[in-house]
Amino acid sequence: MMVVDYVIIGAGYAGLSAAALLSHFGFSVVVLESHTYVGGCASYFDRKEFTFDVGATTLSGLLPHQPLGKIFSTLGITPKVKKLEPGMVIFLDDKKIIRYANQQRWITEAEQQFQSKGQKKFWDTLFTMEAELWNMLEHLVYFPPTSLRDALTLLPLIKPSVLRSSTGLIRPLYVLLEQYGLHNDRQFVRFVDEQLLISTQNKSDLAPLLPSSIGLVYPSETYYPMGGMNKPVEQLEQSVRKNNGSIFFKQRVTSIEQLPSKQYKISTAKGKEFHTKGIISSIPIWNLPAITSGSIQKYFEKKSRQHPDGWGAFTINFAIEDTMDLETAYYQLHSQSPIPYCSSDSLFVSFSLREDREKSPEGWYTVTISTHTKAEDWFALSEDEYERRKEAVTKHLLQEFDNRFDGFKGAVKQYVLAGTPRTFEFYTKRYNGYVGGIPHTIEKPLPFMTPNKTPFDNFYVIGDTTFPGQGTPAVALGAWNVVQRILRK
Ligand SMILES: Cc1cc2nc3c(=O)[nH]c(=O)nc-3n(C[C@H](O)[C@H](O)[C@H](O)COP(=O)(O)OP(=O)(O)OC[C@H]3O[C@@H](n4cnc5c(N)ncnc54)[C@H](O)[C@@H]3O)c2cc1C
Repeated sequence: MMVVDYVIIGAGYAGLSAAALLSHFGFSVVVLESHTYVGGCASYFDRKEFTFDVGATTLSGLLPHQPLGKIFSTLGITPKVKKLEPGMVIFLDDKKIIRYANQQRWITEAEQQFQSKGQKKFWDTLFTMEAELWNMLEHLVYFPPTSLRDALTLLPLIKPSVLRSSTGLIRPLYVLLEQYGLHNDRQFVRFVDEQLLISTQNKSDLAPLLPSSIGLVYPSETYYPMGGMNKPVEQLEQSVRKNNGSIFFKQRVTSIEQLPSKQYKISTAKGKEFHTKGIISSIPIWNLPAITSGSIQKYFEKKSRQHPDGWGAFTINFAIEDTMDLETAYYQLHSQSPIPYCSSDSLFVSFSLREDREKSPEGWYTVTISTHTKAEDWFALSEDEYERRKEAVTKHLLQEFDNRFDGFKGAVKQYVLAGTPRTFEFYTKRYNGYVGGIPHTIEKPLPFMTPNKTPFDNFYVIGDTTFPGQGTPAVALGAWNVVQRILRK
């Protein structure tokens, strides 16, 4: 039986980043993916000449010192992306807010849209903090530390400025709103809260200041991937294959067993077996107790208990006739009334660009709408009740869409398809249909996240339920860090 250096479980952004880097550096790798193609929560589906993103739609972290930037340049990959200006447009009550990518333009816009006093200082502080955090993250390969050796590597980083910034891990973003006198501007707090919810998965009272800076600043560095979110990840797939790595689809891992030799035996639902010296799992930590045993199982049970919370997502995809010009590809709409069975007051609407003819033919856009929901509200229901809830949410979201985009009045919509936590569970096999990782919170800040290195020989965990969290740049960073660890061994 051939023994490979690493088996990577899952072919989303995390798994394929790790696999592509390891194969680039000469390791033998096998990727096992349960679905029929790559991407996971950033995958796609086709209907005739239309391509729809299933979850993630925005790409970021592409600057040279940021995770996807570093991974792509190491692998010689040039993703086909377009930087957006404005990064986003937000409809809030009767306001249309243009979230310019340019820092000064955005601050001027924020000052005009909200209570102006304090805006400049608030945003300048966030932009500074965001830059500092990216610089810090670059050096946190051994974080959270899992041994004395890991901890010692952090010593050179202990400087007064870093210690000062680190307090932003246990203080909520709300303190910054208070500091600059913005906490009484209810509308501004709602604006901030809904943007934090899509980036940190928490609102300003609980989201730690430091990760919130990335969460609020990211529309300044937002890229539209031409052809869909799956395209860059397909380039990672090609890189794995070019470097003689193997990717097997429809191979759901059902068991991981450590052998007396310290190697691992991995079995799949299709009855295949793989022997490997190391494992990189990119599936949620919550999925691991069901496919492990003994001390490994106990470890992941403990981690799952420590981080029990996750969100579900409700999504709608459709194609719509191109009857209006759009300022950008990404819009956030604050709902004019509570969205039934959903936990957020806003919906995120992503359009294909006119120039992106891979996603839709001329005369059409494709649209993805998503919002937060409690995953638990979609299971253990009769089929009738499930369909009723799905229809109620779909109707509400489409109504919000129609109310906000006058220019689409009368435009034909095709293939209106809704996705619930059940859909995500079915296609991505994620436990309970939880997506978007583990919410960032001051109660369990970054150092308490599950480390990428486990206590078991050559067994690593990456992906959005592990350090440093959710979103394609974060999961790419986890993969980058693990590969750095392996290379420096
Ligand atoms: C609605 C929505 C919108 C989002 N928007 C954005 C956005 O705009 N920008 C952004 O950066 N992020 C966004 N995110 C978050 C982002 O999609 C995820 O954080 C990221 O894609 C997670 O990548 P991953 O590789 O960690 O996990 P996944 O994408 O879940 O990949 C894991 C893979 O493992 C496979 N798998 C599962 N179990 C097994 C098994 N037992 N054996 C083999 N394979 C298995 C799955 O099929 C999947 O392909 C969004 C998420 C959602 C749900």
